[in-house]
Amino acid sequence: MKCDVAIIGAGPAGLTAGYELVKNGKSVIVLEQDAEKVGGISRTVDYKGFKFDIGGHRFFSKSNEVEDLWTELLGKDMLVRNRLSRIYYNGKFYNYPLKPINAFMNLGFMNTLWCVMDYGRSKLFPRKHERSLEDWVINHFGKRLYRIFFKTYTEKVWGIPCDQISTDWAAQRIKGLSLWRAIFHAFKPQNSSNKEAAIKTLIDQFRYPKFGPGMMWEEAARRIQSVEDSEVRLNEKVDRIQHSSGKVLAVQTSNANGTRHHQEADHFISTMPLRSLVRALDPSPPKAVFEAGEALNYRDFITVALIIDHPHSFPDNWIYIHDPAVKVGRIQNFKNWSPHMVPNDLQTCLGLEYFCFEGDGLWQMTDEELIDLGSRELKAIGILNNASVVDGTVVRVPKAYPVYDDGYKMHIQTILDYLREELANLQVIGRNGMHRYNNQDHAMMTGLLAARNILGQHYDLWSVNEDAEYLEEIGKDRMVPRKLNEGLV
Ligand SMILES: Cc1cc2nc3c(=O)[nH]c(=O)nc-3n(C[C@H](O)[C@H](O)[C@H](O)COP(=O)(O)OP(=O)(O)OC[C@H]3O[C@@H](n4cnc5c(N)ncnc54)[C@H](O)[C@@H]3O)c2cc1C
Repeated sequence: MKCDVAIIGAGPAGLTAGYELVKNGKSVIVLEQDAEKVGGISRTVDYKGFKFDIGGHRFFSKSNEVEDLWTELLGKDMLVRNRLSRIYYNGKFYNYPLKPINAFMNLGFMNTLWCVMDYGRSKLFPRKHERSLEDWVINHFGKRLYRIFFKTYTEKVWGIPCDQISTDWAAQRIKGLSLWRAIFHAFKPQNSSNKEAAIKTLIDQFRYPKFGPGMMWEEAARRIQSVEDSEVRLNEKVDRIQHSSGKVLAVQTSNANGTRHHQEADHFISTMPLRSLVRALDPSPPKAVFEAGEALNYRDFITVALIIDHPHSFPDNWIYIHDPAVKVGRIQNFKNWSPHMVPNDLQTCLGLEYFCFEGDGLWQMTDEELIDLGSRELKAIGILNNASVVDGTVVRVPKAYPVYDDGYKMHIQTILDYLREELANLQVIGRNGMHRYNNQDHAMMTGLLAARNILGQHYDLWSVNEDAEYLEEIGKDRMVPRKLNEGLV
């Protein structure tokens, strides 16, 4: 049966768009490939009553509209949590955000002096062409601080050297951060942050759903389902997008049982990865567009959740593991995100995050091997003390991170030019949908605005910045110049 809008993917972007549309009288079908859960990367996994995220999900946005929507969906079930996080490097734990005495004690006098001298050198003789993330960080912090606080962790996350990562990464993730702001933040009283001026990486507090982020998206899906003629359909992977005469006519889905469905609609919204979308086009696009899709890269991700027979384990929400001696990149303690994430008071559930490429050595390890690796690395870091790992489970997440390598902008532009011409009733939104390495709030804002475009307004979705703010002006950090993007809405 034909609906007003078919949405591909029941993650934050797709469900936000769907919710906005049903509130405004449109019939919506959301097609989700996962057989069990909505929420996408922001889902919550439940293992024997222990709940965990795919990486801890902080709810923080500079957009009041997004914050209000979270409150509208979950009300009092949105907890306000204080943040405690540290960096583990070279056998020491550094507070992050930095605390002056702790940083000084860990670095020692000579190392601190070297950091200051290196910083001075980078200010006097900056790298002229800031092409890579390495250039950007060294110019802002100096070489030594770059080595301690940025290089190893960033390379674990992306799997490529920092001199091959685009400066766009810094623009997206640590925009506005400088040594002076980090030091200023270190000396200011706790929790006095002005939200507008806040730097995301340094925030002291965030909101978090009582039972994890999936709770938010299950509620959004429930509200869509409660409207007549609207549905969220699980176990439906879109693998064909049929188009003709400048617009999409229908999408086709399949599942593991071989069942196929055909869904027609007036409008389509996609949150599926841009590369998969190009592959699914029927008829196929010209060679240059297909190749642009194939040239987009992703970083994949594994969470190893370990149950520990200890009531606390450690006090942080999470610890960044910069130390190159172990493979784990970050460790979450979900009980410290919300006490409701565990089924009893005597145990904790730690989420060990491994960044990898689909098919590489880590990805191909069996679950047992990964649980064993995680247990050994916890011991090596010294977090376990006398406690032990009593159980564990593994979740593999393909395409967790869209990669910003050389050329990714050009490939996206090639694809967008084609979509604008050939598929005028399709909008791409969200993280992998737009190949934007952003948080839920960005995904949600693009979802909201895509819905409003269908309701008659004219937003350019590429004008939503990483803080989920809609910029009327053409900002210098825009992905695609306006003239190339006109008509895409
Ligand atoms: C480790 C990690 C930590 C993070 N931490 C935070 C945080 O602290 N705070 C925060 O706000 N954000 C965080 N994020 C980002 C957040 O997860 C994403 O921004 C958000 O989930 C993006 O929403 P989305 O709907 O665009 O995409 P997704 O969450 O990827 O959802 C897309 C959905 O589409 C489905 N899909 C894909 N292809 C198809 C297809 N062909 N057919 C049907 N369905 C399909 C997928 O199964 C998925 O359910 C984190 C991400 C990671 C990886």
